[in-house]
Order: sequence, then C-alpha cells, then structure tokens
Amino acid sequence: MTPQPFTATILGSPRIGPHRELKRATERYWAGTIRRAELDSIAAGLRRDTWTALTAAGLDSMPTNTFSYYDQMLDTAVLLGALPRRAADIADDLDRYFAAARGNDAIQPLEMTKWFDTNYHYIVPEIGPDTRFALNPAKVLGEVKEARDLGITARPVIVGPLTFLALSKAVDGAGAPIGRLDEVIALYADLLADLADAGADWVQIDEPVLVTDILSNAAELTAQTYRLLGGLTKRPAIFVATYFGALNGVLAALARTPVEAIGVDLVAGGYQAVGAVPELADKTVVAGIVDGRNIWRTDLHTALGMLESLRGSVGELAVSTSCSTLHVPYTLDAEPDVDPALRSWLAFGSEKVTEVVALARGLRDGREAITEEIAASQAAVASRRYDPRLNNAHVRERISSIASSGATRGPAADRRSAQNERLHLPALPTTTIGSYPQTTAIRKAREALRAGEIDQVEYTHDMRAEVAAVIALQEDLGLDVLVHGEPERNDMVQYFAEQLDGFFATRHGWVQSYGTRCVRPPILYGDVNRPQPMTVEWATYAQSLTRRPVKGMLTGPVTILAWSFVRDDQPLADTANQIALAIRDETVDLQAAGIAIIQVDEPALRELLPLRSKDKGDYLAWAVGAFRLATAGVNDSTQIHTHLCYSEFGEVIGAIADLDADVTSIEAARSRMEILDDLNAIGFSNSVGPGVYDIHSPRVPGTAEVAASLRAALKAVPAERLWVNPDCGLKTRGQDEVVASLRNMVDAAKEVRVDG
Ligand code: GLN
Ligand code: ZN
Repeated sequence: MTPQPFTATILGSPRIGPHRELKRATERYWAGTIRRAELDSIAAGLRRDTWTALTAAGLDSMPTNTFSYYDQMLDTAVLLGALPRRAADIADDLDRYFAAARGNDAIQPLEMTKWFDTNYHYIVPEIGPDTRFALNPAKVLGEVKEARDLGITARPVIVGPLTFLALSKAVDGAGAPIGRLDEVIALYADLLADLADAGADWVQIDEPVLVTDILSNAAELTAQTYRLLGGLTKRPAIFVATYFGALNGVLAALARTPVEAIGVDLVAGGYQAVGAVPELADKTVVAGIVDGRNIWRTDLHTALGMLESLRGSVGELAVSTSCSTLHVPYTLDAEPDVDPALRSWLAFGSEKVTEVVALARGLRDGREAITEEIAASQAAVASRRYDPRLNNAHVRERISSIASSGATRGPAADRRSAQNERLHLPALPTTTIGSYPQTTAIRKAREALRAGEIDQVEYTHDMRAEVAAVIALQEDLGLDVLVHGEPERNDMVQYFAEQLDGFFATRHGWVQSYGTRCVRPPILYGDVNRPQPMTVEWATYAQSLTRRPVKGMLTGPVTILAWSFVRDDQPLADTANQIALAIRDETVDLQAAGIAIIQVDEPALRELLPLRSKDKGDYLAWAVGAFRLATAGVNDSTQIHTHLCYSEFGEVIGAIADLDADVTSIEAARSRMEILDDLNAIGFSNSVGPGVYDIHSPRVPGTAEVAASLRAALKAVPAERLWVNPDCGLKTRGQDEVVASLRNMVDAAKEVRVDG
C-alpha cells in the first residue's frame, strides 16, 4: 500500500478540556445531575475543538482515539474485552467502565499506577485465567467516523499489544499476561482490518514499554508482533510510536519488520543512535524532537540541525512531539501572570504544536523559511541562559561548601537516646501523617481569598481556627504526636513552590493526573532559594496550644522535583540539592522555634526511578543524598520523620533505609508484613510506622482489626521501634470517618501496650 505521507504531527493531546470541561461534566454525570447524552455531547465537542485547532495549526496527520473518559489503558482493556468479571453485570457500558476504574458499593476498582516515569496514573488491567479476549472496536471506529464527518482524516492511536500486556497484572494464579500475546495479536489483526474498512490510512500503535527493561526478550517479541501485523494485507499503514527513552537494540529489530513508520523520542533518547540503524533507510521516522512532557521552548536552531543530520539516513522524516502532550497544560495564553522573560522560555501544548509545524516547514523548505521563528527561539535561549535568576551565586556557593558548613547528625542510636530523653513518648506512639480533612469551610476560605473577598489577614485567622480545632480533636482522641492539620496548604508541593525563589506557580496550568483528577505542577525555572521561613508560624502556633509534641511538616526535595516541571539546563541532582538546602533551612528554623519533631515527606521517591536498570543506582544515590542534605542540619535530639506512599517499595527498600530518618511511616495497608520483613532483611533498625489502615477508602477499621495488625507487626519490629499511624494523610476523607477511625486506632494501641 502507499499511504499518504505526513510531515508534522503530535502523538496525542490533552483531553480534559482547556477549562477542565470534561472533569466537570464527568463529575456531574457521576453525581447524577447530567445524563449520558449530555456528557457524550460535551466530550464530542472537546474532540471536535481539539481536531479543528490542530488542523488549523498545520498538522497534516491527526491522532484520534487519544480522548478518554478516564484512561487509555482502561480503554484498551475495553477494546480487547478484558474488563474484570466482577464488573460484567453492569448493563450500561459507560457505568461498567467507570465502575472498573473507581469501584462502587459492590465491586473493588482496578488498581492504578504511574504511567512510566510520569505523574500520570493509568488503570492496571487484570488478566486472569477466565479473561476471554474479544474485540470491541466501537470507540476507535466511532472516532474515525466522527473525524471524517468533520472532513479530517483520522490516525487512530491504540496502545500496542506488548505495552498492554506488559503493564497488565496477572490475577487468580494466571501466568504473566505477555504469555497471551498470540491471542491478543489476532485481535489487533481484526482491528486493523476494521480500520482499513473505515478508511483510516494510518494507525498509530503505542509501544512505550520498549524503552524499558520490563520485557526481557523485547527484541524477539517486537519482531514476532510486528512481522505478523506488518504482514497483513488488509490494514492501514502502521506507525509504531515509542517514547520516554531510547529503544537501544529493539530499534533495529523493529526496523526489520514491515511496519511503515517508527516514532522515536529524541528528547529522552538522543538522536545519534537513530542515525546508525541502516534498516531505517526505507522507513518513515517520526522524530519526537519537541519535548511533549516538559514546558520548555524548543531551541529550533539546534533541533533543526539534528533533524537535518538524520534526514540522510532514514526514508522519510516527520516531525513530532516526543510523546503525547497530555502531560503539559493546554496553552500559555491562559497565564497572564508570567513575566515576559519567563514566558519567552516556555511552550505549553498549543505552542508545541506551532514548534512542530515550524520545524517541519524548515525541513521541507530550508532554514530560510523559518528564519524568524529560529531567531525568536534563539533570543529566548540566550535570555534564559543569562538570566540572573538561573544563577544565584549565593546558592551555588552554599551548595559547594555545605559539607564543611553543616552540622552532621550522630549515629542513629545516639539520636534515639537523645530523643527519648526529650520526648518521653510511650511505646507504640500514635500519630497521623499530616493533613486532616479539607473541610468545605477551608475550601470556601481559599476561594474567597483568591476572589479577593477576604484578605490574607482574615484567611490566616480562619485557618488558625482550623488548626486549633484539629489540635483539640487530637488531644481529645489521645494521640501522642500531634500535627497542625495542613489546612493552609492547597497542595503539598505548590504550597512550598509559592514561597520559594526559582518557582512559578501557574494559574490554569492543569494537567490530568488520573481520571478527573488534575494537578497544576509548578515550574521550577531558576536557582532555588528560601527568602524566609515558610511553615514556622503555623507549627509554633499549633505547638502553643498543646503540651504534646507537634510535628513540623515539610515536603522533601525529591517529591518537590517529581511534581514540578523542572529546568532542563542542569542535572536533576543539582536541582534536588538546591531544594534540599531550602528545606534544610526550614528544619533549622523549626528547631530553633522549639519544634522537636519534623517530618519530611517523600511520597515520590519511587516515582522518579529511571526506566532502565542501569540508571537506577545513580538516581537513588542522589535522591538519598538530597534527602540527607535536607535533614542533617538539626541536632540529634530533634526527631526526623519521613513518609512514603503510592508504590511498591521492593526496588527502593535499600534507599529507604539509607534515608536514615529516625521514624519512617509507610503506606502498607495491603502488605504490612512484607514491608517490615523487607526492612528487617536489610538490617534496618530505625523506627517504622507501617500504616495500620487504608485511608483511600471510607471504611472505618475496628479496634480489634487494628490491634491484630499491630500484634502481627510486633512479630517483626519490637515495641520501642513501632509507631502507630494511618497509611497516608487524611485530607480527602470525611470528618466523621476520620474521628471514628482514629479513635479505634488509639484504642487499639492502648490495648496492645497493656496486653502485648
Ligand atoms: N503530609 C502529607 C499529608 O498528610 C502527606 C501526603 C502524601 O503522602 N501524599 O497530606
Ligand atoms: Zn502518603
């Protein structure tokens, strides 16, 4: 077949709507205030607007089926008939879909986990012995038709068979899902025939799993899959897209199959290796040169140079973003507060499309055709390089001299005795992770502040009242170590970003995190510095209300890094150290203000773990180094806590021990004993608080249940090292559940202290 060649595209686009229209509509549908037809029509409107805007901007190939009501992996499970059996009885297809994603009274939801090393979470399909695959192409075909009705030729995007199976989870004793590859390939073959009938001349099959070490025989499986699909006679032209890293040996294997186009991530993967694969000489290479997941403007001069040097060694060359722009906000136009210099350095979703189109034009018509665009991008690059905010001599000098300037803490045993002498805590001390329910009153006050209806003084006054209520509640419950409840924080990263030099917090820079949940990652553009204390007044106010110790609450450097858009002009490790220094300053000030316990949360420690095994050691070394830099400025008698959640910790267990926090609270509702055993296995001997109940569910755990799990934990950890706490912060929970759960938790601790 001779498909229409294309020159400028993107791999996918945001779908929540420029003003989060889809989020709002979906939540209204869940609440029962709108019907299916209205939701569908809002969704169709968003797709139409997206396609029309992308066409107008000059793309000549249009990704479709990148829209989703919840998640693309879940969509693929539906496509392949692989929803779990427990959802099968729900008659309405959309309700069944949402039930699989979110659960309901009767059924457990599917798990959710991070999409590679991004902050997007996908739904993990379950493949069991009774999974009967069957093709259900309605959504994919529907979008092809919808686009055609608008006069647009669709390039449907589907998650590839290798990625789908590698990221799914085996259940009920089934073997690894990849063992079912043959069956699944057969369904993809049928789908390709359907797409050809529907008039699609290209299909994009996403195989990001090929940039990881997840499949040990990736090259073979790639050859097997794409020789078969490529060998079909009735099919659209196949574009296999990869992203988030380099393909290494798999690139040549893929290039030897009969697919027409291969997408490579030149931002994360480099371009030299691509030029060195002779088999690409008769392929279309879709060059992901515009960063799809960070917000920096592309240096068009350099980018065009790379493309020109690739051109000779491949068949056709098309320009693209490195991955879907799902990971960046819609447009810079929505950010009135960015100063002109910073604005000139940035490119959000729609600005990236403009860059792709310009590069494609430069490639086709020569550099002269985009002289102005190149000049503007070079001016931005120069302005960024010389901006004083990116090079704070004071910060840089402190980093380099920190080893000699900072106090270093003593050995763990000395610290423990100093802390025991100061704190006099009972065995099995009870505490919480930091946040208490974000009540409607809190949200209203924040809204009112933003809208200018109340001023900062009144807002602070309201939040202090919340703190006082939370302290009174904890005293009443009889908790041993209290917290102020974090009512003043919109978000555990943004709150700090707003107070640190070097960060810009966007107004509308929403990015989908999962389902209808969106986040606004701050932009970390410059050298990080803490102009003044950030949390000391809140902590000391809370401490003034009680004789029990109040924990100071900080977010750790790795988590701040992971949940921001980070500068790309220096190693991540250097940026992490700068943040660490700012957090360290805060710990020292908290200590000076009389705070005896400080918690530095690192829920994202696991998240930034590189995709390739060989890179993991380096990462863990600098991540642990940054945490220790942040926490080693205090005395032995100040107790350092950390908190970890959201992941399987197996791979990073050694790093958790190396953090050397005095107390580590860790999400463990599902596998408490495993974590304790893993920690024991590596000789971890600091204190640990494995979460005793799951805060992600509204269920209130009974006293006996918590006591039983404490007794089980005591088999692995002695009472003097075991803490009692929930799995994570309580901000998403309702007040009544929280009170009931904590009361039972405290009762259970008391019971176990007495009876053992
Ligand atoms: N201290 C934070 C809270 O309690 C921790 C949140 C988290 O672990 N994600 O909300
Ligand atoms: Zn947590």
